[in-house]
Amino acid sequence: MSGLVIREIHKTYGPVPALSNISLDVENGKFLCLLGPSGCGKSTLLRIIAGLDDASKGQILLDGRDITKVPTHQRNFGMVFQSLALFPHLSVGENIAFALSIRGASREVQKREVERLLELMHLPGIAERSILQLSGGQRQRVAIARALALKPKLFLLDEPMSALDAKLREAMQVELKRLQQELGITTLLVTHDQKEAMTTADLVVLMSGGVIQQVAPPLEMYRKPANAFVAQFIGATNLIGARSLGGGRVEVAGGTVGIEQAPPPGPFTFSVRPEDLHLQDNESSSSLAGRIAFTRHLGASIEVNVAVDGMDKDLVVAVPAREESSLSIGRPVHVHVNGATCVVLR
Ligand code: ADP
Repeated sequence: MSGLVIREIHKTYGPVPALSNISLDVENGKFLCLLGPSGCGKSTLLRIIAGLDDASKGQILLDGRDITKVPTHQRNFGMVFQSLALFPHLSVGENIAFALSIRGASREVQKREVERLLELMHLPGIAERSILQLSGGQRQRVAIARALALKPKLFLLDEPMSALDAKLREAMQVELKRLQQELGITTLLVTHDQKEAMTTADLVVLMSGGVIQQVAPPLEMYRKPANAFVAQFIGATNLIGARSLGGGRVEVAGGTVGIEQAPPPGPFTFSVRPEDLHLQDNESSSSLAGRIAFTRHLGASIEVNVAVDGMDKDLVVAVPAREESSLSIGRPVHVHVNGATCVVLR
């Protein structure tokens, strides 16, 4: 297959497994995010792909060629790390042209490439400036330009935006996505920020404890989480313990709701997003009775906690902000559960 293929990678540090049986196919031109909580193995996997670390077991292929043992400097990958690692004593232009000059490119070629890359990063005319005169966002762009100078086959980024403030980080995410689409370069971004992954990636690889939990496009991961860990990590959700009664009927805390996909009779857990639950005044064939316990404004919507009779934790329901007047604390409500939006977890 063309593209990046990762086959059964294992990595242990002493007795501790950092990665267990990681296999992944990345088509050329895709933007992939390695996502997961701190310590889940994202950076280790990226470093192994980059050739900065060896796998204990397994294989890495690029366009059908085994590169497992190829040294980093022969892989021609562009890399940007959290520290950016720009050379402070060199100018912007010298930083960007660094790899080209090592490879013996002429001054003219270097100058042309620096201009092209600065243009691409919306930073024209700053080649002569010192790195020390740049803002955080500009440094970020220069680090990206430097990584792209050798027209790399893979672009690898490890939390490069985590030092930026929230507004700038969002702007850089958009910039990175635009750049990636424009260049069509296969990109792997490590992040612990699920929003960053959801807004930039074509494909999200969610990891925990050195294991891949799910690989899916962002919306699919949100709508069809593979397990409870994924459901909770990606966005807000309600995890509800229930008992299937058969025939699509399900008992929840003494009430009953309809979930077509419910398993055969017995206990199970399902996930339902706050925006898929609705408040109504009257009981229906798929609703749970409770009282409004707490509300919290989130801008366009209000997060409403409903204490459901017989349930040990509140249900979280997203209500449009315009319905605020109906949300007095203590008010009895019925939470309608739309069975089609519930995900049965295994
Ligand atoms: P993440 O990038 O998801 O935060 P890492 O890949 O950095 O996680 O780390 C995965 C696991 O491997 C962690 O438990 C970490 O402590 C361990 N680890 C990473 N690098 C080393 C190392 N050089 N020596 C020993 N343990 C390491």
